[in-house]
Amino acid sequence: MSYPDLDVGLSEEDIAARDMVRRFGNEVMRPIGIRLDKLADPQQVIAKDSELWDVHRTYRELGLHTRRLAGAGGAGLSPLGGIQINEELGYADSGLAISIAVAGAPFAYAAASREPELQGWAKAYAEDTKAELIGCWAITEPDHGSDWILAGEPTSSNPLMAPQLKAVKKGKEYVLTGQKSAWVSNGTIATHASLHVSLDSDQGMHGTAICIVPLDLPGISRGKSLDKHGQRALNQGEIFFEEVVIPEKYMVVPDSARVNVMLGYNTWTGANTGMSVTFAGCAKSALDEAITYAKQRVQGGVAIIEHQNIKLKLMQMLQMVEAARSLSRRTMLYNMANPPGSLSHAVSAKALSTETAFKVASEAVQIHGGNGLSKEYVIEKIMRDARASMIEDGTNEALLLRGAAFL
Ligand SMILES: Cc1cc2nc3c(=O)[nH]c(=O)nc-3n(C[C@H](O)[C@H](O)[C@H](O)COP(=O)(O)OP(=O)(O)OC[C@H]3O[C@@H](n4cnc5c(N)ncnc54)[C@H](O)[C@@H]3O)c2cc1C
Repeated sequence: MSYPDLDVGLSEEDIAARDMVRRFGNEVMRPIGIRLDKLADPQQVIAKDSELWDVHRTYRELGLHTRRLAGAGGAGLSPLGGIQINEELGYADSGLAISIAVAGAPFAYAAASREPELQGWAKAYAEDTKAELIGCWAITEPDHGSDWILAGEPTSSNPLMAPQLKAVKKGKEYVLTGQKSAWVSNGTIATHASLHVSLDSDQGMHGTAICIVPLDLPGISRGKSLDKHGQRALNQGEIFFEEVVIPEKYMVVPDSARVNVMLGYNTWTGANTGMSVTFAGCAKSALDEAITYAKQRVQGGVAIIEHQNIKLKLMQMLQMVEAARSLSRRTMLYNMANPPGSLSHAVSAKALSTETAFKVASEAVQIHGGNGLSKEYVIEKIMRDARASMIEDGTNEALLLRGAAFL
């Protein structure tokens, strides 16, 4: 018998939704994620006939993609029931979990807009079970990574920190010129982007705005898919803008003062709370792989779980995983009930979950012995996926420095 889940008070709907997502994770995400991870060329991951599209399509057929759209309604789940879904997705394959989540980013902005054209994009996304509409969140630039995380600091008004992608207002239009970095998730496959731009370079990071942009406009081009160490199923790549003209209605947050509130607090609170839950799931998957292997592998004439050092290691891993799950859930529950929530807790939960996922996966590799290094076992992939998460959505160091501003 495996160790119990401690959740109490889940409704029948919560349990049914969790089990449905767990099946999707086990039967679709996990096996496809493993196969995509092994592809030598990241271009193969996004090929027309790639299984990546089966993941996106099935996720949408299950209706999971509309959970965060304004006005779309929840799935009748309790707050904890919703959190469990994100944990399950992170458990199955963290890179794919990020890809399907970020695919909705610009459409969430569009759903909140009063502009009929933008509302039309959100509606089309909600109805799109073929995964023809894919979003990305393009903020990082080649010369500005952590700068965006620390944008809320008073010193970030330094003009030397001004973003590279500039938006210049001309009448009722904006002209965009510059680029976003190779780290943009879904960057080479996205049809729409939520895009952070510089409006006033003299104000450095304090002079920015947010627009949503269809990525088939004249002047937009993409780089190659990024070839990287972990989360290889997650497509990433550059987006270039050369005198791209957008109507002013696409500039959904033109007011830098409002963006400063978002980048100074709300954006990183929301993003990191989500990351913490996803990677608590990833951490649990590493523990479960270690327990399963330790029960099967025989050395010294007994399953290695009978050896004291393995028992002790597994129990220490369990403590770390449950601590990460507890803080991420507690933070998410508080932040949902008290928007915009607590940034200090959000970044702490993100750092704890991602570092736990990496440490636990590394210990799980040790428990697998030589097999832990082999691509025949998923644990080395989970370790690589977890390693990326300590940089993803902000390095843990930069995030914690920002969180410290609110102690
Ligand atoms: C898997 C993955 C997915 C991602 N997805 C997206 C996405 O969807 N969209 C997007 O726009 N970006 C995305 N990113 C980019 C990510 O947000 C950046 O990589 C991250 O913010 C760090 O920026 P950087 O890589 O430029 O590192 P740098 O900012 O160059 O940092 C290098 C080192 O210096 C430290 N450092 C930097 N500045 C300071 C400072 N002022 N004080 C103290 N220490 C500092 C950092 O902690 C780090 O150790 C993703 C990254 C990964 C790995």
